[in-house]
Amino acid sequence: MSTPVIGVTMSHSVNKVEMPTQVILEAYLEALRNAGCIPLLIPSGISEEQTREILIRVDGLLLTGGGDIAPQLFQGDQHAAVYDVYPQRDTLEIGLVRAAVDERIPFLAICRGAQVVNVAMGGTLYTHIDDQLAGALDHHGAETRDFSKPVHDVHITLGSRLHEVLGLAELKVNSLHHQGIKRLGQGLVAVASAPDSLIEAVEVPDNPFGVAVQWHPEWMQQDAPQRALFQALADACE
Ligand code: MN
Repeated sequence: MSTPVIGVTMSHSVNKVEMPTQVILEAYLEALRNAGCIPLLIPSGISEEQTREILIRVDGLLLTGGGDIAPQLFQGDQHAAVYDVYPQRDTLEIGLVRAAVDERIPFLAICRGAQVVNVAMGGTLYTHIDDQLAGALDHHGAETRDFSKPVHDVHITLGSRLHEVLGLAELKVNSLHHQGIKRLGQGLVAVASAPDSLIEAVEVPDNPFGVAVQWHPEWMQQDAPQRALFQALADACE
């Protein structure tokens, strides 16, 4: 069995002398390496058609967290809190998701990644949960900079792929997002929710492993169920 090569999407940033860069947080790479995978970074800036060529060269995908998706891509409400919109990243990731769904390529999507999966499949987002979801919990972890700290519970749907991988029906998760899934995209199944009813995970049933979570398992690698998500991605690639 060969080592799974996982394509990893990146964030835009600037370096110390204000030059544009694309970056990846080490936590994602470490979680993949610990699951026996080789991470292969996929920078933004290629066309939606070219993403299909990328997928010939990788065994699976990790769609990472980051800034917001352009609201016009899902007819979303403009909001002053929308930040770090990079159209090139949206183009890359939406293309990757559609191709991965069509070609049944395993993927794990995290936070922004889960939102990208939903938008790619025609769903919509709350562009600022606090102002748009009545009774919303604190999902943005405002009181802590400890990303590994559990913020709220999620209820996992019995019989889902996520449930099978985690081995749990309830899980405490971190939460570092201000947007979330509003209307579910086509072909997706909601498989976890927060106590305020916000969707916290979705999956593509007809895929060896097509799972998207709104929390950040890469920051909770101290917990075996969170490590199991990365392991399940690796196993699905073989
Ligand atoms: Mn949350």
